[in-house]
Amino acid sequence: MICREAGGFLDRSFLKVKPSPDGQSFDKQPAEVLYMDKVMTHPLKTNGQRTDEQRSALLFEDLKQPLTDKGAAVESSRCLECGGPYAEAPCVTACPTGIDIPGFISAIYRGEIDGAADRIFEENLLGATCSKVCPVEVLCEGACVLEKEGRKPVEIGLLQRYATERELKRRIRFREPAPSNGHKVSVIGAGPAGLSCAGELALKGYDVTVYDERQDFGGLVRYAIAPYRIDRDPLPSEVQMLKDLGVKFEMGTPIDSREKLDELRKSSEAVFLGIGLGDDVNIGYPGDGLQGVWESLEFIKTIKTDRLPEIGSSVAVIGGGNTAIDVAIEARRMGAKDVTIYYRRTESEMPAYDHEIDEARSEGVHLQFLTNPVRFEGEDRVERMVCQYMQLGEPDDSGRPRPVKVENTEFAIPVDTVIKAIGQQKRTGFLSWIEDLELDNGLIKIDESTGQTSNRFFFAGGDALNGGATVVEAVEDGKVAAHGIDKYVGGMSS
Ligand SMILES: Cc1cc2nc3c(=O)[nH]c(=O)nc-3n(C[C@H](O)[C@H](O)[C@H](O)COP(=O)(O)OP(=O)(O)OC[C@H]3O[C@@H](n4cnc5c(N)ncnc54)[C@H](O)[C@@H]3O)c2cc1C
Ligand code: SF4
Repeated sequence: MICREAGGFLDRSFLKVKPSPDGQSFDKQPAEVLYMDKVMTHPLKTNGQRTDEQRSALLFEDLKQPLTDKGAAVESSRCLECGGPYAEAPCVTACPTGIDIPGFISAIYRGEIDGAADRIFEENLLGATCSKVCPVEVLCEGACVLEKEGRKPVEIGLLQRYATERELKRRIRFREPAPSNGHKVSVIGAGPAGLSCAGELALKGYDVTVYDERQDFGGLVRYAIAPYRIDRDPLPSEVQMLKDLGVKFEMGTPIDSREKLDELRKSSEAVFLGIGLGDDVNIGYPGDGLQGVWESLEFIKTIKTDRLPEIGSSVAVIGGGNTAIDVAIEARRMGAKDVTIYYRRTESEMPAYDHEIDEARSEGVHLQFLTNPVRFEGEDRVERMVCQYMQLGEPDDSGRPRPVKVENTEFAIPVDTVIKAIGQQKRTGFLSWIEDLELDNGLIKIDESTGQTSNRFFFAGGDALNGGATVVEAVEDGKVAAHGIDKYVGGMSS
């Protein structure tokens, strides 16, 4: 018998379970042996010259290793199965999609992995993707009662990954669609919001087509989320699941004119906007055009879908959000010796999650506060970044102290690469084609209970509403809008 608490601790602290190459059996070794082995040879720690293979392997190496069968059994045994008829478990309340977390964990504990996956996909059609990208530290795991008692929270994300990945290898059908109802809906955007909305509508019997300007599915999941969190898998399997439910895809199809949008509007009974945000905000520093000066999204897209660019040994990252943290860690993993994030306010005002800032520091990233770039200098390639110091002033519209320049404090830093991670643009041009669409500072306004916009024909969800949040929130928005569309279209036809 395994003691629930000590079992998990023992498994992960004193004994490391090392899977055999085929993943079917395990060797146990004292943790110190494996740990020292990893520290001594891990290229990030040695700071030595890295081969291209090492750079690539590090960049795509999972931040957290997946659980083995035994690890999953032990970890699931730690869950107290909180909640009951009068109150939900805190982890469920903290999950934007409301997955029955104690339910799926207890199914894993009983060895019913198929039932665990069914429960996850019941609430979240991208449950496998979410298990890899969700910031669990501030969602389910952050709310786990064990954490509140000063113990390590149950590794909900890893357990979700274990169940969904394992089951997606065996089948693609987790929920049964209703018979066709003859109604047609168009979805613009194959990001998490659009995929979730399309899948939920197909389950209700709708004829759904998803249009996306990109060739590949997933929006920012495919093109922007850090490669050490997710590369491609498990998204293609989840998309296959949606196709099996009847969702049609028109990839490489931009809806880039008022006429095309009108056509979609006429050929469907409702349109869901899962268009996310646009390219990086362009602040326009002198020297922007030099080689080695990157916008964050272009940089990440290049390393995820094309090649690893030469970044040299000294990399400056500009910004204070999660994207700045991601590209800084990526640069470190690609072999840069000195990677520094320059942020114009202080650490307390950084929008990045605390756990991500800690993660960056643990990977050797430096942070410099109250510093802003002025221009980039060099011949063909950037060689220097000229900065100036800032100080905090009165609060601005965001409620945070405004950064104010300190005059005559310019200084130059030698750099090989600069990556600007300042935020994404809103898609106001596209949105201006929709009559009577109410926006709030460039973001779409909706009725939160239905996802319906002020133009009743259009529904919306995801980053285009919230200005950039998480995959799981976009998935939930898509789900809410699918119910809203069903009410609207069903209401029209009754
Ligand atoms: C660098 C970075 C790292 C991130 N890391 C994480 C993370 O680790 N975990 C997490 O949960 N979240 C993360 N996020 C946030 C997360 O990716 C987004 O919240 C989520 O992808 C939003 O989903 P969406 O469907 O609203 O939009 P998107 O994912 O942006 O998808 C929108 C889709 O619409 C398409 N589109 C737009 N306009 C048109 C048009 N006119 N015609 C046709 N197609 C169109 C686009 O091509 C795109 O595929 C990160 C974001 C960034 C930028
Ligand atoms: S809060 Fe933690 S212990 Fe309680 S049900 Fe959720 S995961 Fe299990």
